[in-house]
Amino acid sequence: MNTPVIILKPHKEESVLRLHMWVFSGAISKIVLDKSYPYDAPQEGELVQVADHTGKILAVGHWQIGSIAVRILAFGVDTLPNRFWHDRITAAWQLRQTLGLVREDNNTFRLIHGEGDFLPGLVIDVYGDTAVMQAHSIGMHNHRMEIAQAVTDCVPIIKRVYYKSDDTLPFKAPIEGDKTGYLIGEPLKEVLWALENGLGFRIDWLTGQKTGFFVDQRESRALLEHYAKGHDVLNMFCYTGGFSVYALRGGAKTVTSVDVSSKAIELVQDNVSHNFPHATNHTAVAADAFDFLNAEERKFDLIILDPPAFAKHRDAIQNALRGYRRLNAKGIEKIRPGGILFTFSCSQAIDKEMFRLAVFSAAAQVGRKVRILHQLHQPADHPINIYHPEGEYLKGLVLYVE
Ligand code: SAH
Repeated sequence: MNTPVIILKPHKEESVLRLHMWVFSGAISKIVLDKSYPYDAPQEGELVQVADHTGKILAVGHWQIGSIAVRILAFGVDTLPNRFWHDRITAAWQLRQTLGLVREDNNTFRLIHGEGDFLPGLVIDVYGDTAVMQAHSIGMHNHRMEIAQAVTDCVPIIKRVYYKSDDTLPFKAPIEGDKTGYLIGEPLKEVLWALENGLGFRIDWLTGQKTGFFVDQRESRALLEHYAKGHDVLNMFCYTGGFSVYALRGGAKTVTSVDVSSKAIELVQDNVSHNFPHATNHTAVAADAFDFLNAEERKFDLIILDPPAFAKHRDAIQNALRGYRRLNAKGIEKIRPGGILFTFSCSQAIDKEMFRLAVFSAAAQVGRKVRILHQLHQPADHPINIYHPEGEYLKGLVLYVE
């Protein structure tokens, strides 16, 4: 049985030749299936070949039902090369070593960041000897065992691979096999304390959000630590309390952590007492962010606003921008003169300029003097493939508020 061939319309090969990793359904002129092919269309997650209108094969990738029809895995070949997974994972591991992320005081990092590591639809985060893997496509789901094997073969520190794709796989696709569970190794009997810049964090990949921790804020947390000394800090949307623990190490006078999830509040409390068993200057509150900010009368020297993505899709952009404006206006109001606001957006659909404009409108609405000190972004273990600018999702501003 031959691989299905996706024939592109004339000129639509240009983006593939420029190494963009997605083929949109509108670019396809026809699909050629072998006579012996058992179905009347390619199957979701199946490997397909992509060809220009003359039939010349340009790439292979995973077929997907939806507006992104193919996620390309390899260019200039008609089949996946031998040792494809091993080679890609080895390259990713080498990059993380080059970045200096694998140290005695740091064993928490992203190993695979989708298109940024030339593996669209795959995310793998590492916590010590455990890799937590998420498939965002049925194609990656189908290859999960080969991928897990390649991770343990190529990354010598990894002893177990946990698969966690119950929230990330497309809902409507028929899915064979389990969406969660250990692919390699045994469950840990004790709590895993991952190390980030010398601080310990309890990682609960079984019930935690995403892979269990937000690895992408490592550098912003370190910057916050630098500003925390002697200050009253408010960490909104704290989740596991990454920013709170760094603020305490930085010598904050008080730290208040807020999240709507009571499970997150338990985690932040555990993380604070693990790192600072005698700290009496930390308070954790389970509350909705707007309810908390509306009711709170105190002002703070340092506030972090790191909400979940307000725009998951392009059609939600306008509402999301209003949400960022409202939230940042509240945040700016609560800052003492001469204080600092760390504000973030992790919505992929909202670019840097849109976010900055929303924060600008918030500042103008409150009428405070606001200056930008730093412009933050995702760290280097979440690389942005230059041919796939859509991979840039995290942006932040550090503002000085007078
Ligand atoms: N800053 C965190 C990551 C934040 S993720 C870190 O460094 O790890 C976003 C968090 O916002 C989640 O923990 C989620 O529970 C919380 N959240 C979502 N909606 C909320 C709301 N309305 N009010 C307060 N917290 C909310």
